[in-house]
Amino acid sequence: MFGCVIHGQDDLRVEELPVPEPGPGQALVAVRYGGVCGSDLHYWLHGGVGDFRLKEPMLLGHEVVGTVVAYGSPDASSPAVGTAVAVHPATPCGVCPECAEGRRNVCRDTRYLGSAARFPHVQGGFAAQVVVPAEQLRPLPENLDLLRAALAEPLSVALHAVRRAGDVAGRHVLVTGAGPIGCLVVAAAKAAGAERVTVTDLLPAALEYARRAGADTLVRADDPDDPGWPAEADVAVEASGVAAGLDTCLRLVRRGGVVVQLGMLPPGPSPFAGNLVVSREIELRGAFRFDGEFDEALRLLAAEPAFDALVSAVVPVQEAESAFRLAADRARSCKVLLDFGG
Ligand SMILES: [Zn+2]
Ligand SMILES: [Zn+2]
Repeated sequence: MFGCVIHGQDDLRVEELPVPEPGPGQALVAVRYGGVCGSDLHYWLHGGVGDFRLKEPMLLGHEVVGTVVAYGSPDASSPAVGTAVAVHPATPCGVCPECAEGRRNVCRDTRYLGSAARFPHVQGGFAAQVVVPAEQLRPLPENLDLLRAALAEPLSVALHAVRRAGDVAGRHVLVTGAGPIGCLVVAAAKAAGAERVTVTDLLPAALEYARRAGADTLVRADDPDDPGWPAEADVAVEASGVAAGLDTCLRLVRRGGVVVQLGMLPPGPSPFAGNLVVSREIELRGAFRFDGEFDEALRLLAAEPAFDALVSAVVPVQEAESAFRLAADRARSCKVLLDFGG
């Protein structure tokens, strides 16, 4: 079987790998689709994401859907063999102070598919067959096919960011960055009852995807005269991962408003107008991954066929590098899926 292994910066290889065997409590899943995420691109382009650096070869991928093939031990409580499933990529430790507080997404000892946050790295799901803890399998709801279900992980990230913003019902939400995550934040904010969503990006093609996700107003971030710039927004979600986006959020959110930083900023200090946090009493909150939002994401995807428009390409695993190149080119893509055939 084939898998996509990252060996270092600019060194992505499609390799022949042995089929893994599930142990007790584990399931073997035949992977159909794997979504290429910004973090996968970071490992490929920069050899790391944020403070997490590659120290050994790692199977990439954490946005994985497929079909259950087998269990390592008899398992009556998990989905039957043959069931279509999405894989929740996180296994929090369950005992650290954050887990005890119910903030399992910031668990200090979590295992997350395809992440170099710990060493040895946790191998990911970009392979034709993968072994995962059986408790991480989620059967797909009726009316949800595997292709759209591949958006469950990034949509969960977006849902969590909107939750961190507080109640957005009836509010004006600003989203900086119209990549796949920004677009899914638009959809999540709309689903949560936002009255108006304004999205900024440098690229018209990206903004067009945001429109399909439900955005009301599109703004060219590099055009100060764009008529779409709001005087102020109630809530802002920074989804571009660049400091200029955070700066825009701080300048445009209302006094006393909430800014959620979701995009992964570069490691080290970032330049932004931090003084506004003080003088306008802005609440600056981080949003990292998700927890229970995964089940909510599957329900939302099942109910809304329009999400299909955010999948811009499906590429066979053998052409993984061209898929990565496509995903990194936001003028030509939104969410790119790898097809593992399983
Ligand atoms: Zn992801
Ligand atoms: Zn924990």
